[in-house]
Amino acid sequence: GQKVVLITGCSSGIGLGIAVMLARDKQQRYYVIATMRDLKRQDKLVCAAGDTYGKTLTVCTLDVCSNESVRQCVDSVKDRHIDILINNAGVGLVGPVEGLSLDDMMKVFETNFFGAVRMIKEVMPDMKKRRSGHIIVISSVMGLQGVAFNDVYAASKFAIEGFCESLAVQLLKFNVTMSMIEPGPVHTEFEMKMYDDVSKKEYPNTDPETMHHFRTCYLPTSVNIFQGLGQTPEDIAKVTKKVIESPRPPFRSLTNPLYTPIVALKYADDSGDLSLHTFYHMLYNLGGVMHVSVRIMKVLSFSCMRRRAVSPD
Ligand code: NAD
Repeated sequence: GQKVVLITGCSSGIGLGIAVMLARDKQQRYYVIATMRDLKRQDKLVCAAGDTYGKTLTVCTLDVCSNESVRQCVDSVKDRHIDILINNAGVGLVGPVEGLSLDDMMKVFETNFFGAVRMIKEVMPDMKKRRSGHIIVISSVMGLQGVAFNDVYAASKFAIEGFCESLAVQLLKFNVTMSMIEPGPVHTEFEMKMYDDVSKKEYPNTDPETMHHFRTCYLPTSVNIFQGLGQTPEDIAKVTKKVIESPRPPFRSLTNPLYTPIVALKYADDSGDLSLHTFYHMLYNLGGVMHVSVRIMKVLSFSCMRRRAVSPD
């Protein structure tokens, strides 16, 4: 029969893309429960879902930061039976650490880490009982490799990687599968929110030299990398669908083969210095030099082509 898929954070971006792609499956193999914090924001999803809305796709309120909201939504699902849980809801945070409030930092962990943990705690026991299920987490390349000025965001993704890597072993015994999807840059509201935030936010207690590095080294490199390497939500949805439909779903999938070398660097040199110095040069010596960082990543990737990376097609 149809597989019940519950996805968090579906009002935009990757969550919306995955919801619509699964709902539009030609063989109608999925019944998608597309969830979001605020149903007032459902128009874009409903529009993209077209005539699948009400058939293979339904919309439900769910705030991953609220116990009651998560419980209510899962209780409303027939027999609480969810075959596939996709943890997608997430928020970003960039800027120098001394200029960010601890409250803002905790919000990132509340959503990206505890939000996913809350969902898994609610859904996993039923999956274990049924001895079947698939838990998917939209992590990030930054869950495997830290990036300057993304300290707290990367930490939240590292946290969920560590949590899931530990849990995956235990779940295997119950025939429950865990899969991490690690996108590089993706063109979504996430990107917009970041630039919007940066233009409005003041970063108190931050020395001018650090601010200069942030604004003239990091930001132009980041814009450049999004332009040169950015994928679409549909690319991420394709990889996710492929993982779901694989007879033996991989634990990790990098969606962008150009990021394979970045991750490989870390394992190639266990002192960690190779990664550290590569990133140092990318940030301070090449930052702002148009396209150079992007070109380096492309060149690096040729030497690592044979490493596994799920291609979008
Ligand atoms: P997005 O901002 O378009 O989507 C994130 C969604 O999560 C939004 O719809 C937002 O409303 C929702 N959300 C936030 N807090 C929530 C909460 N408490 N409860 C329920 N929903 C909540 O951005 P996106 O790029 O589609 O992000 C989706 C996921 O992909 C995130 O986990 C993000 O960390 C990850 N990711 C994004 C990129 C990128 O470059 N865009 C790269 C790697 C990983």
